[in-house]
Order: sequence, then C-alpha cells, then structure tokens
Amino acid sequence: MTTTLVTNIGSLVTNDPALGEGPLGLVEDAAVVMDGDRVTWVGPAAKAPAADAAYDAGGRALIPGFVDSHSHLVFAGDRTQEFNARMSGRSYTAGGIRTTVAATRSATDAQLEANLVRHLHEARRQGTTTFETKSGYGLTVEDEARALRIAAAHTDEVTYLGAHIVSPDYAEDPAAYVDLVTGEMLTACAPYARWVDVFCEKGAFDGDQARAILTAGKAAGLIPRIHANQLSFGPGVQLGVELGAASADHCTHLTDADVDALANSETVATLLPGAEFSTRAQWPDARRLLDAGATVALSTDCNPGSSYTSSMPFCIALAVRDMGMTPDEALWSATAGGARALRRTDIGALTPGARADLVLLDAPSHVHLAYRPGVPLVHAVWQRGERVV
Ligand SMILES: [Zn+2]
Repeated sequence: MTTTLVTNIGSLVTNDPALGEGPLGLVEDAAVVMDGDRVTWVGPAAKAPAADAAYDAGGRALIPGFVDSHSHLVFAGDRTQEFNARMSGRSYTAGGIRTTVAATRSATDAQLEANLVRHLHEARRQGTTTFETKSGYGLTVEDEARALRIAAAHTDEVTYLGAHIVSPDYAEDPAAYVDLVTGEMLTACAPYARWVDVFCEKGAFDGDQARAILTAGKAAGLIPRIHANQLSFGPGVQLGVELGAASADHCTHLTDADVDALANSETVATLLPGAEFSTRAQWPDARRLLDAGATVALSTDCNPGSSYTSSMPFCIALAVRDMGMTPDEALWSATAGGARALRRTDIGALTPGARADLVLLDAPSHVHLAYRPGVPLVHAVWQRGERVV
C-alpha cells in the first residue's frame, strides 16, 4: 500500500471529540495520513509521520465525506412541469409519483443505470462519498427487484421500498398490494437489499399496513427504516421506534410523545429539508429534536418529484437558516449523523481506522458551507483513499 499525507489543513473536522476541540473534534493546522482505503493517522501537521506521497491542502478545511442516507435515485424521466406549476400557483393534475412509476417501468436497465450513475457523480462532485438509495418507482415484483439489482451494483446501502405508494394496478384493492409487498415481492427483492422501508402517511400506508410491511421485512433479514410524519401527524415515528428502525425519516409533524420516543431510542431522526424547500412546506424543527436529546441526520431525499437536489451543502444551509441548527450541528448531522442512520461506524468521521473518505473545501472552515450557500466549495474528494474529484 502507498501512504499519502494530506498536510497544511487549515481546519480539520474529525467528528471525534477525543481528537480535537468540541463535538466536531476540530484540529487546526492539521494533517491526515491515508494508507490504501483507510485513515491511519490524524493530528497536528507538525507531528505528522513520513509518508510515500504528500498533498498540500493549502490551508483549506478538510471534512469527512458526506453520508447521504436517504435518496430515491433509480428512476426515469423528470417532473419539471409539476414543480413549475406548484411554484407558479397553478393547479396541475398529473400523477405525481405515478408519473415517475410509468416512466421508470418503460425505461431499459441501461437507461436506469445511466441515470443513477449521472446523479451519483453529481453528488460526488458536491462531497457525497456514501449514499443510500431505494426502489419504489417500479411497484411490480420484476420492476422493484430490477431497481434494487441496479442500485446494489453501486452502493451497499440499498433499501426495498415496494411500499412507496399503493401500486396503481391495485388501486381498488390496497390489501392485496400489501400482501404482494410482504410476500412475493419481498422474496424477490430481499437478496439485493439491506433495508426495508415504507411510506407511512395518509394516502399511502397506514400504521397497521406499515407494521405488517416492516415486520415481514425484518423476518426476511432486512433492517427497518421508515418515511414518517412528513405531511401530517401519524403513527410512523413511534412505530419505527417500536420496531427498532435505524431511522425515522422526515419527522416534520411531531407530537411531544414522538420527540420523546426518538430521544429515548437508537432511532435516528433524519431530516430532509430539500423536500420542504421544493414543496414550500413547513420546516422540520431540528432544534426541538436536538434539545430533547435525539440524534439528527441530514439527507437530500433526492428524487424527481419532491426534492430534486443531490446537494448536501444545500441541505446544510437550509438546516442552519431555517431549522435552528448551528453550523457545527448541521455538519455533524450530514456526516456522522448519516453514518448513524445507516448503522455504520467506518464512515462519517476522520479517525484512525475510518474509511478514507475526505472532502477538501475551498474555504478555511466548514462553517462556509452555510455561510456561503449555493457556492461550489468542494475542491477535492477522496473516496476510499482514491482521489475522485
Ligand atoms: Zn424519501
């Protein structure tokens, strides 16, 4: 293996309080050593060991690669007209998710994979080094399994979301669709997935249906996560906590009991401000969750309908501006928080032994991610020790 020393780092975020100042474990005038795909040393530049190669960071800030723990990237087509109508105050009667389902079903495998890869590269240029993605635009046994097979070729974090909406083919008999999702479709999809998910919401799946779907997924060896309390109050968050979900995602409409349940559990509250931005909806209250002691992650929810952004820096800026997070909290949630939501200990931090996923910012501090919104601040990205941007 070749060791590489990244030195002259103006400000380093390790996310390990034992290595530096505050919850982010900040180290000034720092260096990092990588060996192959791992970080092997972190500390003050003056004490750095020798390495085979060196990279001068020029005083820039270095942070862990972003962990985007919630996206929907296996799809075809887009929904520009729907977004334009919504933002222009015009009514629009196209099919929402159903529009994307139709486009996805009629796309070839190669088209779906090319679209996925295009979005992955787009996200990587913005500092994302780990992403989770879901099925949910096929809604047949074959189309869901194919979406997961395509996703699994590009990430380990694959989520079975046959229960995104009730398939239009089962509009008259939702119970039969739940039987399919918990039966034949699950059997076909489980080999490609690590996670099972359900959209628990009025008009999608109610609490009893969501419980049946997540319980069946667990029995098939998948770990639950849940789309919960996005558009209205409901049973999703507490169901997720009860079933040991790794994450409850959205968390926009929460009762005090929901907040308490999250704060007293291992279930991460994953907030997705791109969705509220793109639908002009009420922001989730990150401050309330953090003050209660819940673990908060930030993610893009990248999808062609309700949140068509792959940018974690954009989500950080929204979280700081509109959700009551400090810049430090938002950076932690977009890196270490995402790792927690995926139950990963090898990513989301720059500590000895961690995966060498590094993002160098064209800025002296990570605070610039919120301070300079919309500015392309990513200067370089290393993924598993390899320079990719
Ligand atoms: Zn989602």
